[in-house]
Amino acid sequence: MDKFFTQKTCSRCGGSLKNGRTMSMYNQDCICLGCKDKERRRSDYKEAVEAEHEEIKKGNYNYKGIKG
Ligand SMILES: [Zn+2]
Repeated sequence: MDKFFTQKTCSRCGGSLKNGRTMSMYNQDCICLGCKDKERRRSDYKEAVEAEHEEIKKGNYNYKGIKG
């Protein structure tokens, strides 16, 4: 099974993932929703989202994020 679905704590803050998990937009970290909120507030978040969309358009579904 993919580590993303089996890990129990946030890759970033170490908190519990019982309230939900999501993939970081910057790398392959599995993070909690609180950390995702913090990511969304970063000034370069939009850039990270756009970079990922560009990679998917090119057919690269294994994109690792701008910091990955
Ligand atoms: Zn977290």
